[in-house]
Amino acid sequence: MAEVPEVETIVRDLRSAVVGRSICGAEVLQPEAVRFPAPAEFAEILTKRQVLAADRRAKYILLPLSGDLLLAIHFMLWGTLTLTPRTAPRPDETLIVWHLDRDEELRLLDTLGYARAAVGEPADLAERLDLNALGPEALDPDFSVAVLARQLAKRRSAIKTVLLNQRVLAGLGNRDADESLWMAGIDPQRTAASLTDDELARLHDAICAVLEEGIELRGTQRDLFGVQGRAKHRRNIFERTRQPCPRCQTPIQHLKLGGRNTHYCPTCQH
Ligand SMILES: [Zn+2]
Repeated sequence: MAEVPEVETIVRDLRSAVVGRSICGAEVLQPEAVRFPAPAEFAEILTKRQVLAADRRAKYILLPLSGDLLLAIHFMLWGTLTLTPRTAPRPDETLIVWHLDRDEELRLLDTLGYARAAVGEPADLAERLDLNALGPEALDPDFSVAVLARQLAKRRSAIKTVLLNQRVLAGLGNRDADESLWMAGIDPQRTAASLTDDELARLHDAICAVLEEGIELRGTQRDLFGVQGRAKHRRNIFERTRQPCPRCQTPIQHLKLGGRNTHYCPTCQH
């Protein structure tokens, strides 16, 4: 599943293999994969552009291009990018293809077809995608216990639901939120504002550990070059309902919080 460790892995690969190169043209195979502008304009606007950098904001991949443009790509649940020779067969799940120099293609793939891309002037794109409303990045070096405490203060919803709100904190998907709360020993149903200083410190450390481990193992999906990441999708509790908790052997429980599947240990998460 494409959560922040998977997206960050691809962004780092883009920095090493695509930044500095030229996009010769683009091909939209699935029109619904382009959020804006219209697919024909999207392809035209991306012709003869240089990729200047590769950044990430929450789960958005952001590629600044020559001509003061910004290309944004979002994987949704299972999307990914792959860099491949032009002659390699195109999988059925190919949504968009960018033709690069040196006879290579950057392809946006998604078996579910949910992944999306958009291009525009940076300020306009940020406004349309609501990028400026995103909260602090959990992977930012400035993310501290104090930042987490400030963001969670006065929030009356369940901590799990609050952690998934990217306006509060950018960086946790469903899997990584469940794993972080398990590691910190915090019940996902607790009110966010009820966490003590000690619990906030444990949660901060758990969030950093879960994300850093995911990136260290290069995520759970294939990277830009097709190499499978070594992180486990079902790490300790996520999607392991009724299996023993790795810490205390109590069967892991499942519930829906804010409409999202949630996994936790009723014994060692308080
Ligand atoms: Zn347990």
